Amino acid sequence: MKFGGTSVADAERIKRAARRIVSAREQGHRVVAVLSARGKTTDELIASAEEVSTNPDPREMDMLLSTGERISCALCAMAINDLGHRAISLTGSQAGIVTDTSHTKARILDVRADRIHQALDEDLIVLVAGFQGVSTARDVTTLGRGGSDTTAVALAAALDAEVCDIYTDVAGVYSADPRIVPDARKLPVVSFEEMLEMSASGAGVLQLRSVEYARNHGVRIHCRSSFTEAPGTLVVGEEETMERPLITAVTHSRDEARLTLLGVPDHPGVSGRIFTALAEANINVDMIIQDEPDDDGAEAHMSFTVPRTDLRQARAALDPVVAEVGIRAIGEDPEMGKVSVVGAGMKSHPGVAAKVFSTLGDQGINIEMISTSPIKISCVVAADAVDRAVRALHEAFDLGADQIEVEHPFGAPA
Ligand code: ADP
Ligand code: ASP
Ligand code: MG
Repeated sequence: MKFGGTSVADAERIKRAARRIVSAREQGHRVVAVLSARGKTTDELIASAEEVSTNPDPREMDMLLSTGERISCALCAMAINDLGHRAISLTGSQAGIVTDTSHTKARILDVRADRIHQALDEDLIVLVAGFQGVSTARDVTTLGRGGSDTTAVALAAALDAEVCDIYTDVAGVYSADPRIVPDARKLPVVSFEEMLEMSASGAGVLQLRSVEYARNHGVRIHCRSSFTEAPGTLVVGEEETMERPLITAVTHSRDEARLTLLGVPDHPGVSGRIFTALAEANINVDMIIQDEPDDDGAEAHMSFTVPRTDLRQARAALDPVVAEVGIRAIGEDPEMGKVSVVGAGMKSHPGVAAKVFSTLGDQGINIEMISTSPIKISCVVAADAVDRAVRALHEAFDLGADQIEVEHPFGAPA
């Protein structure tokens, strides 16, 4: 069971999570629960680092950020003990989550769950601080924003759990972020393939790595509300999903930045040099566009997007390359967003891209960059056009709750 930040935000909610955990235990399950930091704690910790340093050291950042989740676990353990059950809270390190050494976005390499097994054998409820681990160099690491989802899935895999219940502040995975599209539809089932594309294109409801991990290890995710008992969304293998509509969801991100390299020399190896520098700095480049110099000798440009939070690091990584390969200048557009449509059904249907482009065109929204996969079409647009773009696409593809017949994988309602 994993509880997100909103679900443990105050004392009442911690107690509610504690009751839910205890109730699962009383139904005869052995329970391991992963908790996130309370409410906006992680944001506040980041802000406090920025108050004392313009460029906080990543190792120290992880020492700081990992505290939020520890607070939640200790408090929840106290609440569970008061309910007459015995609970033990563990840090990521104590829980055996071993990661690589890339601070602030570490990857889980191994889960050594013997301490958890031992606690479960002693009939304890185990609470694990999400979003963190210990590196192969024995430093505390964190797993990137939203990383508690990945902690939960990795533990579910290591413990061979029946299911990984992810309790959050919405009732499941929707056809669009319900905060932007109030009539978005809750999806009863989503395939790993679609959820990967959704998370990768901004649906923060499940961290991308948690979905990758679940697919690779065959973990069933049940994403659901921490405030109701109603079933949420099952994220499962393709074979378990039924016939899909053409488009499943519209996703978005407002957190993109674009870098444009002006006057890129037209030589083999230049792109390799540029993107190796970015890869070595552990920066995820998303869309890339390069134009060839024309016969008039106009210079070539290359544009690509990175997460806005990585913009400063990306510039730092590129500085030596600019001088080395002779790039004239770098331009920055820090306020970019991205809107995507995702659906396994589009594989075999032409015309989806045309509809996306004309819908955005009708809204007067300029498309700055485009990328596609077999089941996704993404457009980079100005960050302030994102909400309008999401609503228009959701409407154009008839994804609203009132527009599609709801499926009932859990049986028809009584
Ligand atoms: P938690 O703190 O529980 O991990 P998050 O804030 O990380 O919660 O994720 C839940 C949020 O994800 C929702 O409140 C919602 O605004 C957002 N979200 C974005 N896209 C979607 C989507 N397609 N379906 C459901 N929620 C979405
Ligand atoms: N607390 C971390 C964050 O806000 C991790 C998580 O909640 O999953 O990103
Ligand atoms: Mg989250």
